[in-house]
Amino acid sequence: MNKKTLKDLPDAFFRGRRALTRVDFNVPLDADGSVADDTRIRAALPTIDYMADRGARVVLFSHLGRPKGGPDPRYSMASVARRLSELTKHPVRFHGSSGDEAAAVATRGLADGDILVLENTRFHAGEEKNDDALSESFAAAGDFFVNDAFGSAHRAHSSTAGVTAYLKPAVAGFLMEKELDYLGTAVAEPKRPFVAILGGAKVSGKIDVIEALLPKVDGLLVGGAMACTFFRAMGLETGKSLVEPDRVDLARSLTDRAGFRLTLPHDATVAPSLDRPQLAHAVRRDAIPMDEAMFDIGPETIASYARAIASANTVLWNGPMGVFETPPFDAGTLAIAQAMAEATGRGAITIVGGGDSAAAVARAGLEDRMSHVSTGGGASLEYLEGKSLPGVAALEDR
Ligand code: ADP
Ligand code: MG
Repeated sequence: MNKKTLKDLPDAFFRGRRALTRVDFNVPLDADGSVADDTRIRAALPTIDYMADRGARVVLFSHLGRPKGGPDPRYSMASVARRLSELTKHPVRFHGSSGDEAAAVATRGLADGDILVLENTRFHAGEEKNDDALSESFAAAGDFFVNDAFGSAHRAHSSTAGVTAYLKPAVAGFLMEKELDYLGTAVAEPKRPFVAILGGAKVSGKIDVIEALLPKVDGLLVGGAMACTFFRAMGLETGKSLVEPDRVDLARSLTDRAGFRLTLPHDATVAPSLDRPQLAHAVRRDAIPMDEAMFDIGPETIASYARAIASANTVLWNGPMGVFETPPFDAGTLAIAQAMAEATGRGAITIVGGGDSAAAVARAGLEDRMSHVSTGGGASLEYLEGKSLPGVAALEDR
């Protein structure tokens, strides 16, 4: 990677220095305000512990939820700090503000190896405007800057981009580095054959990714409701399936340009509606009944996609193959996850991007059997599209 990372700082650099670290602690909360899923907190631990182990005074800040530009106790980082304290051996404290004098003062009371969690960055209206004065105030809480919030890197906010104007060095944390390495390298220099699998609800959100991947892949396999827009472009009946009528022409042009590299499902699992899963049945793609909808790829497609994965050396997957939230329409999604886990086992690089795909992999218990499961939904898509992420661009070059 061409950006400076923690490994570019000598071990002796850390002791006594305040490491202002932008993490992605935008975690789901339970109704009682406690952390419902701590995946993102655990994902930042390597960076946090590495610095605290070396005597840094680690100052963490993040956004959480969508408060309306002012303090809102429902989105306080206090419960995140509590959860973090259960995951690290270093002392964790919480301070109820960020980007102000009081927060900077609180950091002065830290001992080497201490961790301080600051309050939600979005309690400031200036955060999402990349407000310059706020950036400077954030910077006062650190002696150097670390960005480990890959999931927020596609936004130019005060805490992700602006702050780097006031705090140097500004380097990538380990999670950020891993994300950029896997997502970047997969596309730039894949071990071939390179197979991409794209699914999800809408073509519209994935057009740029398809465009960016097409020239790079050996095969691009399409699933999810997205496939139905392509079916419509082929003149097939799609029944009650989710189709984006205004993207049909685009789907046709993509198909024409992609040639043999683009594969659409051969068959579909359909049902009259989602609430009647017991009526699910498989049909050929040219036999989708007018009064039913495709909710998953069919068994033949599952088998053929699994074969493609089995012969690939790099597999990139974004977007569920069906409505995986409602069994039995999770079959295609689970089969892809399983095939990828097996591919990892024989040495292939396997990468999962996208919030729902990552959730499906977690539900299948296969997270540890992927080379990389990206923590950044929108950010991973934008990065795969080849866009420059403001939070990454703001870090120092090597
Ligand atoms: P990701 O978050 O992994 O990028 P998306 O957000 O693009 O994935 O898509 C996930 C959604 O797509 C899921 O909620 C899933 O139910 C929906 N979906 C997948 N296939 C279908 C289908 N055939 N019909 C309707 N919805 C579908
Ligand atoms: Mg999603």
